[in-house]
Amino acid sequence: MKAARLNEVGADFVLEEMPVPVPGPGQVLIRIAGAGVCHSDLHITTGEQQGVALPHTLGHENAGWIEAFGPGAEGQGFEVGDAVVVFGGWGCGHCRFCLGGKEQLCNVFLWGGMGPEGGFAEYMVVPSVRELLSADGLDPVTAAPLTDAALTPYSAVKKTLPYLIPGTTAILIGAGGLGQYGVQFLKLLSPATLIVVDTDEHKREHARTLGADITIDPTDPDAAEQIRAVTGEDGAAAVIDFVGIDATMALGASAVGRGGLFVLVGLAGGSFPFSFFSLPSEAAVMTSNWGTRNELEEVLALARSGRLISTIEQHPLEDINEVFARLAAGQIPGRAVLTP
Ligand code: NAD
Ligand code: ZN
Ligand code: ZN
Repeated sequence: MKAARLNEVGADFVLEEMPVPVPGPGQVLIRIAGAGVCHSDLHITTGEQQGVALPHTLGHENAGWIEAFGPGAEGQGFEVGDAVVVFGGWGCGHCRFCLGGKEQLCNVFLWGGMGPEGGFAEYMVVPSVRELLSADGLDPVTAAPLTDAALTPYSAVKKTLPYLIPGTTAILIGAGGLGQYGVQFLKLLSPATLIVVDTDEHKREHARTLGADITIDPTDPDAAEQIRAVTGEDGAAAVIDFVGIDATMALGASAVGRGGLFVLVGLAGGSFPFSFFSLPSEAAVMTSNWGTRNELEEVLALARSGRLISTIEQHPLEDINEVFARLAAGQIPGRAVLTP
């Protein structure tokens, strides 16, 4: 099979011929329909995100068709040829996080595309049918990004919902691949007024078409005053930062209100000072890491209902280096999906 290999940090991907993997006991071989290109993959290629042993086949937003079962994996609700989406946050399967339904928080870190080989290839092995969800009613190519680009903001938005009572304001920073879905979840699930902050006018305009009430360019000298004009003295009830550099975290921390919630999703490595007086009283700060398998079922249900708009560009796997260059330049509208 062909696979796009990252051999070292900073290098281009190389299309290589590799053996089609053989699924072991309990495992499932998936023929990839599409694999989404996440900014986290870009952080890995640049070395900003560490911990992935190279050479490696990246690609953690995957969907396709069941090609073969390993011994013992058949007869558990799926047949060869079924269209499936792959839940990617694989863990040990038996610790309290896994059994509690938060497998993506397991300390046995087996995420496909960051530990085991991922979906920038014709085939990948999934460790268990537990990680598969039916793609019935969905196009498996455009469903691939639902597993992360949509699931991650869904999980982040759900954390903010208790804060977003009528009359409050939510702020979303970074309306790219993840943010495009975050905008929609905030508008579908909460009554809050939604401010979207993005440096790119195209992303801001797209966010307005997806339901953002107000968009703000953070490079405007009076961006903080523009936010304050909407939130008033109460500040924002919730802020979700999909960028995570010092500047966006400072903006988010300055905009969150008393008793509000700041959720960090972006992995750009930024930080901000945390002390009793650096945030309004009783404001909470947390990270949000991917989402649960059950939350992915909820995202798929929303997608099937037709209420989720996916802005997606499809590209052949051979174009992977051009796609990564365009993602680095901020030129991908929504999400790019590679098809082998
Ligand atoms: P993307 O490149 O598709 O989108 C980033 C968006 O941020 C773009 O619209 C860009 O214009 C905007 N932006 C850039 N700089 C900005 C600034 N200073 N202020 C405001 N907006 C700015 O990226 P993506 O795939 O949506 O990923 C976003 C981040 O989330 C990445 O850091 C990625 O690694 C991370 N991520 C985290 C998780 C998690 O579980 N926590 C999961 C997936 C991705
Ligand atoms: Zn990702
Ligand atoms: Zn576990």
